[in-house]
Amino acid sequence: VSRRAAAADRAFEAVKSFYFSSRYGERRGDATIADFTFGNPHEMPLDGLVAAIREAAVPLDENWFAYKSSEEAPQAFLAETVGRELGLPLEPSDVALTAGAFGAISLAFRLLLDARDEAIFNAPAWFCYEPMLLAADAVPREVALRAPRFDLDLEAIEAAIGPNTRLVIVNTPHNPTGRIYGRAELAGLAEVLERASRRIGRRVFLLSDEPYRRIRFDGRAFTSPAAVYPWTLVSYSYGKVLLAPGQRLGYLALSPLMPASDRQQLRDVMFASQMALGWCFPNAVMQYAVPQLEPLSIDVTALARRRDALSEALGRAGHGVLPPEGTFYLWARWSGDPVRQWEALADEGVFVMPGTLMKQPDYFRISLTASDAMVAQALPYLARRA
Ligand code: PLP
Repeated sequence: VSRRAAAADRAFEAVKSFYFSSRYGERRGDATIADFTFGNPHEMPLDGLVAAIREAAVPLDENWFAYKSSEEAPQAFLAETVGRELGLPLEPSDVALTAGAFGAISLAFRLLLDARDEAIFNAPAWFCYEPMLLAADAVPREVALRAPRFDLDLEAIEAAIGPNTRLVIVNTPHNPTGRIYGRAELAGLAEVLERASRRIGRRVFLLSDEPYRRIRFDGRAFTSPAAVYPWTLVSYSYGKVLLAPGQRLGYLALSPLMPASDRQQLRDVMFASQMALGWCFPNAVMQYAVPQLEPLSIDVTALARRRDALSEALGRAGHGVLPPEGTFYLWARWSGDPVRQWEALADEGVFVMPGTLMKQPDYFRISLTASDAMVAQALPYLARRA
């Protein structure tokens, strides 16, 4: 196999073995376990989602299932609605329709990174940035977030930017910590990127990965980095807000604050890059459904209820819980030996995601997409002191 396939495989090793061959891998899909691992649905899909897909699947003309790239109607719709949401004058051609945030991220890498260009991401991180960068023949550079609150470490980001740095990735609301970065922190990051771009004589772009943007607790505000730093590309997915990650739909959007010449250059190559990546567009049905899907959301109040019940139980057990501001994850620090504690929960059929998957062995992540029944089943074990 190619060197980059092998490198991506190595970077993904911990997740692969957890998913396929761990004690969790053996029990995955078993209806009797309480599954808090991946952000997957454990209840029936939203009614509105099913209705929208049904309606969009019925052909109204002979071109219904013809090749679809970024279609004009969803582009125009998204420019308007997302523009309003983010307070940015998006234009239809700023929006590339993709198969989820995965597709948007790989498109961003294709648009911006040449072989051996460096991209910085903040750790702990979603476990796919690194393998995806390696698969793009780019060089991942990890910068630690500042524990215990996992704030961006602006000085460390600035220090990590060198002559080959082309991209910084920021994920807000953040998986796995649930943090939402505030406007002031993002403005600080924008200053760092501006200064570093001048220092290295080359523009450092920002990828704002925001698939959890609409999943926020306690009325928290959200600022997109695209409103703060002009050279920003936004990746988004409907997979999270609809809790339907198997129905691939998302987009990559260019910040309209980007200088016209840079923005136009990127717009000009988006279509060809998506085609070259292997027709990296969402399928026709999901594109037709965009207007009906846009207002739908999973029940964030139910997520908050689970967050509170689980945080209270984990606190009683002595684990250190960081209350999430957004996403559907809860990030916690083991009170004792991580392996022993994970195994003890697994003995009871309770499966959480070990922090080792995010190179943070002292922590674990709980997905609040588990059903209420799973939460009720697991609470006594999660509350148990080691
Ligand atoms: N970015 C982050 C931070 C994620 O957590 C995920 C999914 O877990 C993705 C991107 C990919 O989202 P999707 O599968 O909806 O494309």
